[in-house]
Amino acid sequence: MAPPFIRSTIRGMVGYTPGEQPGLGERVVKLNTNENPFGPSPRVLQAIREIEPEALRRYPNPTADEFREAAAKLFDVTPDNIIAGNGSDDILTIATRTFIGPGGRLAYPDPTYSLYPVLAKLDDAEAVPVPWEKNYALPVDALLATKAHAIYLANPNAPTGTFIPPATIGALAGKFSGLVLVDEAYVDFADDHCVALVKEHRNVVVSRSLSKAYALAGLRFGFAIAQKDVIDEMMKVKDSYNCDAISVAAATAAILDQEHARKSWEHVRAERSRMSDELNGMGWDVIPSQANFILVNVPGGHAREAYLGLKKQGILVRYFDKPGLNDKIRITIGTAQENNALLGGLKNLHVAEKAA
Ligand SMILES: *Cc1c(COP(=O)(O)O)cnc(C)c1O
Repeated sequence: MAPPFIRSTIRGMVGYTPGEQPGLGERVVKLNTNENPFGPSPRVLQAIREIEPEALRRYPNPTADEFREAAAKLFDVTPDNIIAGNGSDDILTIATRTFIGPGGRLAYPDPTYSLYPVLAKLDDAEAVPVPWEKNYALPVDALLATKAHAIYLANPNAPTGTFIPPATIGALAGKFSGLVLVDEAYVDFADDHCVALVKEHRNVVVSRSLSKAYALAGLRFGFAIAQKDVIDEMMKVKDSYNCDAISVAAATAAILDQEHARKSWEHVRAERSRMSDELNGMGWDVIPSQANFILVNVPGGHAREAYLGLKKQGILVRYFDKPGLNDKIRITIGTAQENNALLGGLKNLHVAEKAA
C-alpha cells in the first residue's frame, strides 16, 4: 500500500513501463526498444573526452545554445525556434505542462506511444484515446470532436511504424484551435517530415530525439521546433538546467556529423525492406513501416508465445498485452546479423509448433 501522504492521482495510477534493458555484458539479440544498431559518431566520443573540468564546475548554458545554433542551421530555422530537452520525453513533459495542465484534455490516436496517457495523468489532465481509422489512417474528425487542448501524434507512429503525410497533419492543425505536437522520434527513418509545418502553423510543435536516429539513447537528448512565441512559453516551464554540459557537447557533435547518422538510416531502411519481404514470405504479415522497427501479425495470433519462444533463444522483441496489439510483436531493425538471428529464431518457433 502506498503511504497516505502520496497525491491520490499518483497512488491511483500505473507508471510507464519501459522495455527490458539487460545488463551491458549480457549476450542477447536486443530488438525490443528501437535503439540504433550502430554506435554514435566517433566525434561524439571525442567531444565527451574533451570536456574541460571547468565546464563541469560551472552550471551549463541553461538553454543549450551551442546545440540550438547547430540545429537551427540544419533545419533552416533560427535558434529561438528550438528548445532542447533531457531526451524527447522531457520535451513531452514540458509540452504537457505548457499546453494542457490540470483539468485539461490530451487527445491522441490509439494505439500509440504509451507515455502520452501517463503524462496527462501526472498533470491531472484527461487522456482521450481516439481509435485509428482503417489501415491506421488519421481519425481527423474524431480527434477534432474531442475538443482537446492538445493532440499528440507520433509520426511515424509507435508501435505501428505507420506514417501520416505532412499535408494531412497540416490540414488537421488548420482546423484545430489547440496545439498539435508531432512526435518525430523516428522520422529520420521515414521519407518525409513535418518541420515545414511550423512556419505556417503557430499551433504545431515538432519534437525530435537523438536516441534512435543518432544512436544516443543513453545520453538523453531531444529537442522541439516551433514558432518563437511558443518556444518562449515552453522555456518558462522547463527545469532551469535540463540539459547537462556533457550532453549538450555530445548532442551538438552528433548532429554535426550527418554523414555518420545517414549511413545508419540507409542501412535500417534497406534491412527494413528485406525483413518485411522475408517475413511476409513466411506468412507473418508485416504492417508497412517508415520507422526503425516493424509491427508483425503473428500467425494464429500467438504473439505472446512467439515473444516468449524468442526470449528463450536469447532474442528480445516487444510484446504489448493490449487490445489491438496482443496478436502482434514489434521487432526493432538491427544489424543484418541480428536480423538473421531473428529470422532463424522465428523459423525455430515454426518447427516447435509443428512438432507439438
Ligand atoms: C523513443 C520515443 C521517444 C522518447 O525518446 P527519448 O528522446 O529517448 O526520450 C518519444 N516518442 C516516441 C514515440 C518514442 O518511441
